[in-house]
Amino acid sequence: MAFAVSPPPQPAVAVAGSDPFPVRRIYCVGRNYAAHAREMGADPDREPPFFFMKPADAVVADGGAVPYPPATQNLHHEVELVVAIGRGGKDIPVDTALEHVFGYAVGLDMTRRDLQNAAKKEGKPWDMGKGFDHSAPCGTIRRAADIGHPGKGAVRLTVNGELRQQGDLSDLIWSVSETISYLSGLVELAPGDLIFTGTPEGVGPVVPGDRLDGSVEGVGTLAVTIG
Ligand code: MN
Repeated sequence: MAFAVSPPPQPAVAVAGSDPFPVRRIYCVGRNYAAHAREMGADPDREPPFFFMKPADAVVADGGAVPYPPATQNLHHEVELVVAIGRGGKDIPVDTALEHVFGYAVGLDMTRRDLQNAAKKEGKPWDMGKGFDHSAPCGTIRRAADIGHPGKGAVRLTVNGELRQQGDLSDLIWSVSETISYLSGLVELAPGDLIFTGTPEGVGPVVPGDRLDGSVEGVGTLAVTIG
């Protein structure tokens, strides 16, 4: 098929022991750990989950570099469990939601916090605070067929070897099953979708030259440097 301009390359994430996972959409859950909700000045009560998106081509591979983005003085790290959707659907029930998961990875929801905070204050969209170029580092996906569905396990991030974030998957306000079920009532999910499930407390700024090492127990690791 001919196009008016060159078609863009298909963004993809590496998969352990398999061909790469093609990325269709990237959904992110906001404030999904109570301690992080509190550090952002929000009420951690179990209000319905909310979502924002990043462009599919914002993914950065494990071992890659995140160029320090323009228009910010306050680039933040948010380490997160990432869910890779292998089977699509809408109005997916909670009790069968995990059947739609292809696998899991460690991700970083990089955030221009100053732009996000300004947008929040003015009731404007978060897109430019969250969905910029190279804003979605994602480590190698491990298949659920190989590792199962982790319901607990440490989520950690170090910057230059110093511990910055630590939480546990068991502290997710909305579980992976509940998140998939809720999101699939808003949009139809499809193979290739990634869901960044939210970050534990301890978010903070990074500067050029920093090395970030994220991990989710039972899932894997992710290392990036800030360019
Ligand atoms: Mn996040």
